[in-house]
Amino acid sequence: MDGTINAQDIRKTMKACVLSSPAPVGTNPLRFEEVSTPTPGENDILVRVHACGVCRTDLHVVEGELPVKKSPIIPGHQIVGEIAALGSRVRPDRRCAVGAVIAPRPRLAEPIQYAVRPA
Ligand SMILES: [Zn+2]
Repeated sequence: MDGTINAQDIRKTMKACVLSSPAPVGTNPLRFEEVSTPTPGENDILVRVHACGVCRTDLHVVEGELPVKKSPIIPGHQIVGEIAALGSRVRPDRRCAVGAVIAPRPRLAEPIQYAVRPA
């Protein structure tokens, strides 16, 4: 995988609930689809999500009450998962390594805050 090290058995696609067009939740605007697995940028990590919460912010996005910068999007930012790959400039350590189980702070633009179980 381009831009990664330790890319091990990463599938080319993944399942996700995709929002293409905001609408009231009662109209089922999310579609469960097979989508391309993202490739991490040089300073990113790729996380294999084990569980994802849905918070009120996600519902605001789904219903169009909060603007999004791109479309379609995959809502959900409160996750627990396993680091699947590291970008080429990410320096692995005990807590940030392929296989570490993490629960990032639910702010997408910030770095990982802690690891639950080191690799
Ligand atoms: Zn939230």
